[in-house]
Amino acid sequence: RGEHEKVRFNGANTELRDSSIKVNVLMATIMPVMMLVMNFSMIAILYFGGMRIDSGNMNIGALIAFIQYAMQIMFSLIMVSMIFVMIPRASASAERINEVLDMQPDLSNPEQPRGMKSMQGMIEFDNVTFRYPGAENPALSDISFTARSGETTAIIGGTGSGKSTLLSLIPRFYDVTEGSVRVNGTDVRELRQEDLRAKIGFVPQKAVLFTGTITENIRHGKDDATMDEVVHAARTAQAENFITEMKEGYDSLIAQGGNNVSGGQKQRLSIARALVRRPEVYIFDDSFSALDFKTDAKLRAALKSETTEAAVLIVAQRVSTVMDADRILVMDEGRIVGSGTHKELLEHNEVYREIVSSQLTEEEIA
Ligand code: ADP
Ligand code: MG
Repeated sequence: RGEHEKVRFNGANTELRDSSIKVNVLMATIMPVMMLVMNFSMIAILYFGGMRIDSGNMNIGALIAFIQYAMQIMFSLIMVSMIFVMIPRASASAERINEVLDMQPDLSNPEQPRGMKSMQGMIEFDNVTFRYPGAENPALSDISFTARSGETTAIIGGTGSGKSTLLSLIPRFYDVTEGSVRVNGTDVRELRQEDLRAKIGFVPQKAVLFTGTITENIRHGKDDATMDEVVHAARTAQAENFITEMKEGYDSLIAQGGNNVSGGQKQRLSIARALVRRPEVYIFDDSFSALDFKTDAKLRAALKSETTEAAVLIVAQRVSTVMDADRILVMDEGRIVGSGTHKELLEHNEVYREIVSSQLTEEEIA
């Protein structure tokens, strides 16, 4: 896009240069003219004033006072002309600021929000079709499934098959086009966003950390978490080892965007941040991709005992990550093309078999 951006940048700069030149040429003529007018009026005042003083009709003091008044008036006139320069700028800025302030969020809380039933985490998708605003084809078509508490539901599928899109409908980052998404039996559109999101621990595909200590980053999940809770979450997320190896342990500083830790460490910290909330619904969007197989397995084993009463949704590219899930949904081009356990899918599902055979050796499959 280099050439295209150059042309665009050039266009904007040429426009700015032309209008700057126009304005400055104008100013360059107006300023001397004003000075000329001012100084000629000064000469006139001194000339006529001098004659009156000469004839004894006026004091020098009165002439000086007159000059002062005249100066003040003329300076005010210059100021007024300055204001005319500033008004168009100010109004253009004000317009833009108001545009931002008047922006209405696409999603709003319902007028009469429903209370959340305190049934343990359950997610239902009911014939959900979803289209991104302005997109031609739906990113998700006709998705129906239920994820119950105490169960792990895994989603596997190629890149662009709509896995992340599906997950983003649960915390209501977008509204469905058709069908409905229910959490604990209530449609997400009937809940307050705060209530809904408090139930969910979401680990996004791209792990995001903030400037601050490790403890602070984990506490983003739960402001009032005790140190014990923070350590427990870190231990479950298999982050404890590398944290204690750092010089200042839990007080070590994380740089902006987490640039001073590796991809796998970032993922584990953002997992710890979700775990510390102890939510009813856990959502992991490809959150184990940067972990080695051993850490991945250990983390999922530790997770199992933590999430006995919650619904867990795991998106993954690796078959080994989803293999022991209670149910696996296979996605392809925005549709669910298969669902079942690893064994069942291996027998009956062509797409799943392809994914498996591309990743595991013959012996591993057997
Ligand atoms: P996956 O997570 O399975 O790799 P995604 O859910 O990210 O896939 O993407 C599914 C489809 O939706 C892709 O075709 C992608 O181009 C499209 N898509 C993803 N995010 C957006 C967005 N914010 N706006 C428009 N289209 C999007
Ligand atoms: Mg994704």
